[in-house]
Amino acid sequence: MQTQIEKIQFHSTNGLSPEVDLKGALLGGQAPDRGLYMPNFFPQLSPEKLESFRSKSYAEIANEVLQPFAEGIVDQDLLKSLCEDAYDYDVPLEQVYDRVHVMRLDQGPTASFKDFAARMMARLIGHFVREDRSRLTILTATSGDTGSAVASAFHGVEGIRVVVLFPIDEVSERQRRQMTTLKDNIRTIAIDGKFDDCQAMVKQAFADPDLAGLDLSSANSINIGRLLPQSVYYVYAWSRLTKGNEPLVIVTPSGNFGNMMGAVFANRMGVPVKKFVVPVNENDEFPTFLATGDYRKIEPSKACVSNAMNVGHPSNLARLVEIFNGHIDEKGKVVRLPNMDAMRQELFSTAVSDASTRETIREAWKKHRLLLEPHGAVGWRGFLDYIAVEPLNGLPAVVVETAHPAKFPDEIEKVLQITPDAPETLSRLDKLEEDYDRMGADYEAFKEYLLAKYN
Ligand SMILES: *Cc1c(COP(=O)(O)O)cnc(C)c1O
Repeated sequence: MQTQIEKIQFHSTNGLSPEVDLKGALLGGQAPDRGLYMPNFFPQLSPEKLESFRSKSYAEIANEVLQPFAEGIVDQDLLKSLCEDAYDYDVPLEQVYDRVHVMRLDQGPTASFKDFAARMMARLIGHFVREDRSRLTILTATSGDTGSAVASAFHGVEGIRVVVLFPIDEVSERQRRQMTTLKDNIRTIAIDGKFDDCQAMVKQAFADPDLAGLDLSSANSINIGRLLPQSVYYVYAWSRLTKGNEPLVIVTPSGNFGNMMGAVFANRMGVPVKKFVVPVNENDEFPTFLATGDYRKIEPSKACVSNAMNVGHPSNLARLVEIFNGHIDEKGKVVRLPNMDAMRQELFSTAVSDASTRETIREAWKKHRLLLEPHGAVGWRGFLDYIAVEPLNGLPAVVVETAHPAKFPDEIEKVLQITPDAPETLSRLDKLEEDYDRMGADYEAFKEYLLAKYN
């Protein structure tokens, strides 16, 4: 008997857009009804397959996890080589004590976890563009980490041009250099304004019919192409830290909830998970929602030291709510309440103040010689809060460190009086020449610029 593999389609969380395949979801980004694409079902990793992962490399696991989503769309051998090419760096699991580990997702070219998704998405989109003999202009606004990961991932990809807008005073020197030293098909523009101004300019450009000829596309955090690759490192962690079908406690410091959704996807594909622990910073709309069932976004979001998590309305919340049979629209209106009891059973969430974040950087170093930057410190604090309520009782746990300490050295220097060693990928930037343009937060000027450079 032949087993027929069903091609996975993606629907919108708002339920009003036609279903699309992986290619449509990747190139489309957001669904036309402003919902987010979700797979119609999760392919299952059998217990035997999961067991086989224990002796496989990261790239091999990535290939096998992503394969069912790409079935009939990307040739199997091609996907395998894209995975090998994208994941050519380490994924360290650092033992802290007993069966508790920190997974450092900071060994990619721009030293944050965003490299994992950006590198796979760039390779897939690059393939689709070659296949269609088309071209794309990726337009993105960044407060730091997304822009650098996306720019690095698309650097040198044929048929694709990238324009990144960043607020001149809101990114660190290293974050800026990660974008401005690439050149070639990557153009960076420093905006005399805030991140919100950059985002507004990008949004307006997408809606502008005069720019239709530029084939604009986005690579922001709501693209399903960012989520699927983020499930792989949780499968990998499980394969390295558990025995038999033991469940893993997974801790993910969160902002837009893209990273933690990767863990949820891994679980829905068959990876046993004991709890999703989702610590946030002082933007506490999610833990409040989980506790009360009352959702109120925080506007404007609070500026905390873990700045990549300063999110007052997580863009991926619509996906999480759908997993628990609810519906929340893009504006944050709860149309149908998810099953709160089931959500509380599977998730634990807590808000961590800046003072506590700093204290945790100090404590983790003193007690365990564990070096954390502010995002990872929010994660570690959330883990400690969780085990105070629900002890591990011998089960393994993994806490995700989302960026390299040398990417956010200021707080570490203040608290610990030590300067974290920078990996080669960061330190070499100091010697490279920068190239970027600069303009005011003025949409008309930006539009003229795009038309002059790209039409
Ligand atoms: C983007 C980012 C986060 C937040 O991840 P989400 O997927 O938005 O929850 C956390 N830490 C760092 C360093 C980041 O760059």
